Amino acid sequence: MNILITGGTGLIGSTLIKKLSDEHSFTVISRNEANAKQTLGAHTNVLGSVADIKDIGVFDAVINLAGEPIADKRWTDTQKKIICDSRWHITTQLVAKINSSDNPPKTFISGSAIGFYGRQGEKVVTEDTSPHKEFTHDLCEKWESIATGVDSEKTRVAILRTGVVLAENGGALEKMALPFKLGVGGSLGSGRQYLSWIHLDDMVNAIEFLLNNENCSGPFNLTAPEPVTNKTFSKQLAKALSRPCLFFVPSFVMKIAMGESSTMLLEGQNVIPDKLIKAGYSFTYPTVYSALSAIY
Ligand code: NDP
Repeated sequence: MNILITGGTGLIGSTLIKKLSDEHSFTVISRNEANAKQTLGAHTNVLGSVADIKDIGVFDAVINLAGEPIADKRWTDTQKKIICDSRWHITTQLVAKINSSDNPPKTFISGSAIGFYGRQGEKVVTEDTSPHKEFTHDLCEKWESIATGVDSEKTRVAILRTGVVLAENGGALEKMALPFKLGVGGSLGSGRQYLSWIHLDDMVNAIEFLLNNENCSGPFNLTAPEPVTNKTFSKQLAKALSRPCLFFVPSFVMKIAMGESSTMLLEGQNVIPDKLIKAGYSFTYPTVYSALSAIY
């Protein structure tokens, strides 16, 4: 397949390209061509923006992962706008290009996150669960609704409602593991909040599955089938790193340190990949211990 990808230099995109580049040809849209070629190889086709695409009809599929990192900075009004605009703008441009093509790509896979559901407590969350309205919901709801604006008669759309992607280098786990590596690791807040995670290999394999499965459309939870509480995750992480899990960080300390974005860690979601499982996807790392021990 000839695939156009945004966010191809990121954690998920670069791993996907490296895994599939023998089989498929990728063109990456990146704000920084030199960095894209350094990350992905000098031979990589790189475009600076959606406006540089002459004919989107040459691509069989478009994968849209670009966006300002969500958890790296405090959620000031300015930062929230950057987080939203960096996703909504490029998705709007892609959808306009796809819809104006005489021969549009057959598949459009576009990012989202389990933040779509907002805080859900311990309740099991599937793709049909009603969301709780808060910032992450508003961000994802509009991101998804722009993406599903493509003409579904001509282009199949699959939306990636992604959980916390676990990888050795990059992403949330690197930051979560640091206090454990220093021997001061522990759970966060009450520890009862759920963490819905997915191993990077399953993330990439599931995107490949959605790319190849013409019956798959609409939103998909990209999370492992066994979400765990923060307390269980912390214990399993400590075990995988052969370090103690003795401490806990009170909620108020998290709120002071992180502001509103602490809700992502203190209020979890117990998300299961209902549609992926029903579609026949089989997880390489279904349990958190299998994922963490493969990583460490
Ligand atoms: P990364 O943060 O690793 O990479 C995203 C890419 O987006 C970057 O490589 C960059 O590409 C581009 N980008 C970054 N900031 C901006 C900006 N301000 N404006 C425009 N483009 C920008 O993301 P991941 O690979 O981790 O995730 C991919 C998508 O999946 C993201 O949209 C993310 O929100 C979503 N997701 C990820 C989760 C995770 O745990 N990793 C969890 C839930 C959702 P370049 O510099 O080449 O332009």
